[in-house]
Amino acid sequence: MVDKQKTIREKFSLAGVGLHTGQKIKLTFKPSAENTGIQFIREDLPNKPSIKADFFHVITNSGIPRCTSIGQDNVIIHTVEHLMSVLCGLEVDNLIVGIDGQEVPGLDGSGLEFSKAIKKVGLLEQNSPREYFYIKEPLAVEDNGSCISMTPATDFCIAYTLDYDHPILRSQFFSVRINSQTFEQEVAPCRTFCLESEAKELREKGLGKGANYENTLVVGSQGVINNRMRFSNEFARHKVLDFIGDIYLLGIPIKGHVLAVKSGHKLNLELLKKLHQQKEEHKENSYVPDYNFSDKRQIGIQEILKILPHRFPFLMVDRVYEIEKGKKGIGIKNVTTNDYFFQGHFPSRPVMPGVLIVEAMAQAAGVVVLSSDAHHGQIAFFMAADKVKFRKVVAPGDQIKMEVEVLRDRGKTAQVQAVAKVDGEIAAEAEMIFSFTNASYLD
Ligand code: ZN
Repeated sequence: MVDKQKTIREKFSLAGVGLHTGQKIKLTFKPSAENTGIQFIREDLPNKPSIKADFFHVITNSGIPRCTSIGQDNVIIHTVEHLMSVLCGLEVDNLIVGIDGQEVPGLDGSGLEFSKAIKKVGLLEQNSPREYFYIKEPLAVEDNGSCISMTPATDFCIAYTLDYDHPILRSQFFSVRINSQTFEQEVAPCRTFCLESEAKELREKGLGKGANYENTLVVGSQGVINNRMRFSNEFARHKVLDFIGDIYLLGIPIKGHVLAVKSGHKLNLELLKKLHQQKEEHKENSYVPDYNFSDKRQIGIQEILKILPHRFPFLMVDRVYEIEKGKKGIGIKNVTTNDYFFQGHFPSRPVMPGVLIVEAMAQAAGVVVLSSDAHHGQIAFFMAADKVKFRKVVAPGDQIKMEVEVLRDRGKTAQVQAVAKVDGEIAAEAEMIFSFTNASYLD
């Protein structure tokens, strides 16, 4: 099954104090329509300006170090990272966050309270598919001994190594494959921390006003002051929490493997910039399925181009008719001497290669299975062919009629029977298995 976008089931509020500003803040969370993303609304300001939590609104010189801020035109929201992390971790795609001040409350210094509150109201699945950005090429950023690298993968994993020149904060490691369960249990409860010396420094700058020994693990030379660790490697885990929150400002969830060493917000935001660049570069030549089957029984080539990502010289179906959505249909492939494969197969006697007849059947089958509403926004991968038989030579001038019938559609995979006929005689037949993935895979 394709992942669907989610929002919260109902409105709820949370209140607390901003760790840096010390302001008392109330947050009001409201469900939001699909494809709207995460939006903050400054409810304390005239006209209630809204700020979308995305790459375009990240502020790098907010005046407050050690936190991530978003804003536009003097409207600012500080310390969004822990909340953003929870929204990413729990897979909340669309949400309105009303805020009556300029900093998201720190609560207990982790993502735990946000996570608990969201789990309590529950999530509502929406109709649109959830899109991911799959890392296309490896990415890396580094700065003075800290670094983050990212490689393509079909899941989201993070391995973090922390290493401060401090007796309590030497070499801590944490690695996790992120899903809503691992996030909730392994990452969300991990609190922010700072060194005793840094705490003093922040106070002197007039920051850290809302911080105390409860909501911040303050590390002295003997260990954490007036508090207990929730995990032996809670610091490294909190760095993972921060990373997820910062990167969710890309605007959509990502898939890739992350290796991070001694990195923090500054480097996270550098990586975010590179991720955004890569995403934009790939958008230009990406394939976006854009079809609406409604109750059409026949579709022509213009629509096939919206359903299938295949292009010249590898698109082998010209029309599909007698479509019963997600069940059956008949594909047409008009074979012509202009087809590129006849140049070499064979120069003296053109014969359509059998495997390409199978490919044509697979494409016709792809159109039929993807016509089901459940597969909207997806592409079909040809996974297996069984009982393949070639019975007749196909040559220029032939019209192949491919009768496709979906035998089973299990959501993740579908089994299809196809028979290719020329002039009523069977030229080839096969049973095929398809699996499905979001079209953003091709971005
Ligand atoms: Zn943090």
